[in-house]
Order: sequence, then structure tokens, then C-alpha cells
Amino acid sequence: MTKVAQRYDNLAAARNFKPGKAKNSTMDIPEIFGENTLTLDKLEERLPKAAWKDLQKTIDEGESLNIDVADAVALAMKDWATEKGATHFTHWFQPLTGSTAEKHDSFITPNQGGGAMAVFSGKDLIQGEPDASSFPSGGLRPTFEARGYTAWDPTSPAFLIENQNGTYLCIPTAFASWKGEALDHKTPLLRSSDALNKAAKAALKLFGIESKKVNSTVGCEQEYFLIDQEFVYRRPDILTSGRTLVGAKPPRGQELDDHYFGSIPERVLSFMLEAEKELYKLGIPVKTRHNEVAPSQYELAPIFEMSNVAADHQQLTMMVLKKVAKKYGLECLLHEKPFDGLNGSGKHLNWSLSTAEGDNLLEPGESPHENMKFLFFFTAVLLGVYRHQDLLRISVAHAGNDHRLGANEAPPAIISSFIGDQLNDIVEQLISGGAKSSKQGGLLGLGSPVLPHLPKHAGDRNRTSPFAFTGNKFEFRALGSNQSPSFPIVVLNTIVAEAIEDMTEDLNKAKKGDSIEKALAKVLSSRLKECKAVIFNGDGYSDEWQDEAKERGLLNLKTTPDALPYLTEKENISLFNKYKVLNKKEMFSRKEIWTEQYITTRTIEVDTIESIAKTMIYPAVVRYIGELSKAVDQTKALELDHSGSLNMLNKVNDGLNRLNTALEKLAEVQGKLSYKDTSDHARKVETDVLPIMKDIRDAIDFLERYVADDYWPLPVYREMLFIK
Ligand code: ADP
Ligand code: MG
Repeated sequence: MTKVAQRYDNLAAARNFKPGKAKNSTMDIPEIFGENTLTLDKLEERLPKAAWKDLQKTIDEGESLNIDVADAVALAMKDWATEKGATHFTHWFQPLTGSTAEKHDSFITPNQGGGAMAVFSGKDLIQGEPDASSFPSGGLRPTFEARGYTAWDPTSPAFLIENQNGTYLCIPTAFASWKGEALDHKTPLLRSSDALNKAAKAALKLFGIESKKVNSTVGCEQEYFLIDQEFVYRRPDILTSGRTLVGAKPPRGQELDDHYFGSIPERVLSFMLEAEKELYKLGIPVKTRHNEVAPSQYELAPIFEMSNVAADHQQLTMMVLKKVAKKYGLECLLHEKPFDGLNGSGKHLNWSLSTAEGDNLLEPGESPHENMKFLFFFTAVLLGVYRHQDLLRISVAHAGNDHRLGANEAPPAIISSFIGDQLNDIVEQLISGGAKSSKQGGLLGLGSPVLPHLPKHAGDRNRTSPFAFTGNKFEFRALGSNQSPSFPIVVLNTIVAEAIEDMTEDLNKAKKGDSIEKALAKVLSSRLKECKAVIFNGDGYSDEWQDEAKERGLLNLKTTPDALPYLTEKENISLFNKYKVLNKKEMFSRKEIWTEQYITTRTIEVDTIESIAKTMIYPAVVRYIGELSKAVDQTKALELDHSGSLNMLNKVNDGLNRLNTALEKLAEVQGKLSYKDTSDHARKVETDVLPIMKDIRDAIDFLERYVADDYWPLPVYREMLFIK
């Protein structure tokens, strides 16, 4: 068999993958939903009344749990888990690696009679002590203090992970150093929720509303690619970096626009159905699925939940997608830019504020009273976003996302907010001190009995905006597909808490001797004036916006090395410190960790492309050059016109020389690279090394167009995309 035949045989084999026969093709969602989570309802059933009441206090009001209650919960949890076949438990946590971590312990302890019994105490439940030395701490934890603590988060339900050979119980936990410094994503999220809760509850009182608790709500739309798994093993770049580092654009990419919302290929649908089933069992309310813009790109979105639970569920969603894909011979690529020249993948973070009583504070509503409340919180969000553009930008800054942001497929690196025409009109009128008349026919005019009737769906679509108001929530669209949504949520919770607090103070002052309507009009006018530069309803992809944003004084932090240093700016440290979300040490450690992650990612990529170039591309091209040279010689000897083969030979030879030059330059630059600190290192990787990576890639992609298919050592885009 020729190599080409072999190649297409492999391809066909991969494409003909047949998953095992499904047991039944129907899915009873209400029946299976939450089957593998210990929901509060189930816990209530299993707990003594008093213990349940105490636990509820902890969950609702953040009161600390006493050990007797913890023992009762532990017993209930263990019984539930073992009844469902679990043999082990783990504190499940989210270190700053970006993925999740677990260390399993068996429930089983030998008893004195030579048998075994299941033990799991309150202490086992509330606290674990994993060795923290292998997780990034950014200098927070000297190696001799290897201990770390995990602490149970009772607000996120425990769940079971099943494997064909066994089941284990996962207990969501926070992870901290032995001195109590946060080493994870959950701790600051819980702290920021607390800050937001306090600020929002105090503000609501001004509108005569007593709420038990205010929380942020989150729904994440997740984009991903699927490719046949077989290709992953033949692409060292996908294997090590999660993305292709070389590969010429296919003759047909997304130009035909026929993939988006197109019908879903059979095998992919099978995968989706099984993934959704697993997610339902975990109590994750997935709702929508569809094809995305690029070939082999898809999206999944859940119904929103409380932000802390949504963040946990988002991590689980990514895990389930990856796991289930393998069963169908597929690999789920969560990288932000798996294929150059095709759209990358993002994660849209839909964010709003909700009271425990179920009131969405960003719902424009119908009645004037609701409008007042809406305008207050809506303005607070804009104010927070305006003041802390840098933090929002940092929250989405990592190597993978640098390929997307600002690249005409994802929002620009400039943080601005789209609010739609109608709201924009209202904002302008509020700024000018309440309108006498308005486009909407006298709807506005705070202070007059008629308050604005706000549009129910203000969210005209503007895909180019990083932070768009979409009807009754904001949609932060700059997140990378592969990232945890936690830090963006932390930032939003905190910056909005601050803005709410400041506006509450304003309102309290303005209210003295004035009606709440008039006082609010004043506050809105001055605060909207302050932050109106952040509102932008135009085309975020355009060059003019880059200039205009600069004139408006908005930040434009184009890359991760540009953005990360801002994390430890004075204002940011004092903000996070004030709301007890992160202290100074924790902020510095995060900056260090994320900068190092950037450098590590790029270093792996550079090493990988270098090795692909030297050990795969170079040998293949040299062999092909040999064959072309032979052809030139033979045609010459036969006294035939040999311009064709000579031309090809020249082209391929040129490509090889280009590649060689780029590789030499890489060696030279790497040999000379010196830097002051990690930030400087990251910057130099970006300014000095990245352009050479591109040169190497360009040379290889050029060669791919000329070298015979049967010589080319890597699966190409055309083969990997287009699952049928
Ligand atoms: P769109 O195409 O408008 O973005 P989708 O249905 O794809 O709509 O996604 C909307 C996402 O927003 C869903 O995940 C949904 O749960 C979420 N969402 C809706 N309302 C809220 C809310 N109040 N708070 C947070 N997220 C919300
Ligand atoms: Mg969306």
C-alpha cells in the first residue's frame, strides 16, 4: 500500500468509528437530573432537623459550622455515597493550575475483627490536608511549609464521579496554605460573593427591599472543537500544546458559512447526548447545543446558577466533554485557538445579580419602582467596569487567549460595554439631568411621576463588544474557552460591590431632604458622566475604535505580558484588600503564577515547533528534494524540458532554506535571552521569540503547499476538520 493510500485508510478508519451500541435511546431528564449530586433537598431528608437548620444557617448566612453538625452531615453524605456504590471520597479543589485536583481516600478502615468498616467523620468532611508543594503558590508557600488545607464549601453540592470499575465522592473544597492564604480559585470567589452580598443588600434597603441574600448568577456558554482522536497522537503540537503550531489553511475553511447552526453530524450528536446525560446526572442544567462558526466547532450552554456553583459546574463540564469525547473516538479541544485561520473558541460569561427571593436586579422590569432599582444596579456595573478595565482584562489574560482577543473574531483587548440604542438614549438623558421629552415619548424624566419604560430586550446583538448588556444580564465575552470562569467572576463581584457601595453612599447623601427619585436622578447623572467613556455601541473590530478608545483614555492591553503587571497596581491591591477578597501577598503570588504560566506555555510551544521542524518536517523535505533532484536529472538526461521539476525543486528548496534561517535565528535569540524578572521574561518571550515562531510556521506552511502528500509527516487541516 502506498503511503497516501495508508493515510486515507487511516482517515477512513477513524471516520468510521462506531460507538458501542447504546442501551436505550431515550433520556428521562427529570428522572436522571441530579442523580449523582447530593442536593440540599436530599441532604435535608437525611439530616436530623436541628442539624439541617444549623447547616442552612451556614449556607445562607455564612455562619461557621459546629463539629456535631459536620459529623451529622458527614454521616448522611457517606450513607448516600456508599448506597450509590462509592468506595472513596476526595476533597475536590481548584488550584491555580487552571484544572481541578483530587486525592482519593477510601471510606474503608480495617476493624478489630479483621473485617473492614466505612468511616467518614465531620473532620474528614470539613478539612483535608493535601501536600501543597506541587501546586503553584507564587512564593506564598516556602517549600518547607508544604502543608495545605482544603476546606469544605457547603454551598456547592457534593457529587459522584462514576467509572466503569467504581465510583467516588467529590466534596467541593477551597484550598489554602497553612497560613490561610488562598491557593485556589474558589476561596476568592466565595470572599467576593460575600462582599457583593453586603453591598447589594445595603443598597436594596434604600429602595425599601429587605433581602436575605444577594448573589451573582452565572451562565457560561462553552465553545469547543472536536477532532478524531487518532490525529492527536500524530500531532505532537496538539498533544503538548492543545493546538496546532503549524498547518496551512485548508482550501475550504469557514468561508461558506454553512457550519454555524447547521445540522449536527450523527457521531457528534451521539457524543453530545451522552455528555449531556452525564452533566444532567451531575445536576448541571445544560440547555442549548449547536454548531459554531468554524468547521468541527460546537457550543454548549447551561441555564444560569449561583456563581460559585456555576464555576464548579463549568469545571465539571469541561471535564465531562473531554472524557465523553474519547468514548466516541473524538478529542475535545478546549484551546482558544486550535487552528490558525479559523475562528477560535471562547467562553461567554453571562452575569447578573439575583436576590435569594429570586429577583434579578438587572431586569429592567415594567414598573417605575423596578426601573429605579434597575438603573441603580445597571449604572453600578458600568461604573465598576469603567474603573477597573485593567482587572477585567487581566482576568482573561493567558497565552491561549492572546491569539483570539483583538483578532477580528473575538472582542478587542479594549474593555468597553455595549448597551444598545435604547438604553444608550436613556443614559444620555440621565446624564443631562433627566429628560423632559425623549425618543420613547416622555418615558424618561426621573423625578416626574413617569419613570422610563425600559426595553425588555435592550440587547440588540453586537458580537464585537467584550461586555454587552443583553436584556437582563451582562455578557462578558472575552473569556477563553479553556479557562476557569472564577477569576472573571471574582473581579466582577468585587468591582461591582465597590461601585454599589459608593453609589449607596452618594444616594444616602443626596436623599437628605429630597425624594428618592430626585436623589437617584442626581446620583445616576454624575456617576454615568464619570463612566460614560466605557460605553461603546459601535464596531469593536474596527481600526477607528482603537483610535477612539485611546482618545477616550481607555486601556488597550493587547497581550498577556502587557496586562498582568497591572494586577499589582496600588488601586487594585487596595480594592481587593478593602473587600477582603485577596491580600497583597495573594495578589503578588497570582501575578507571579500567571506570568510563569505564560512563559511555560510559550516555552513548550517553541520547543515543540522546533522539534517538529527538525525531526519531522526537515527529514521529509530533504527526502522529497532528493526525489525532485532525481527527476530534474532524469528529464535533463532525456533532453526533455525540465522547467517543471526544476521549478518545484527551487520552491521546495527555498522553503527549506527559509525554515533553516528561522531555526538559526531562534537559536541565536534563545542564546542571548536575558531578563530582569518574570514579567520581563514574559515580555521578551512575546516580543523576541514569538515572531520567530511565526517565521518557522510560515516556512513550514509554505512547504506544506509544495511537498508531496505522501511525504508530509503530519495530518493536515483538511483531514482533521470536517467530521462527517
Ligand atoms: P445568547 O445567544 O443570547 O448568548 P444563550 O442561550 O446562548 O443566549 O446563552 C445565554 C446564557 O445566559 C445562558 O447560559 C443563560 O443561562 C445565561 N443567563 C440568562 N439569564 C441569566 C442571568 N440572569 N444571570 C446569569 N446568566 C444568565
Ligand atoms: Mg452568547
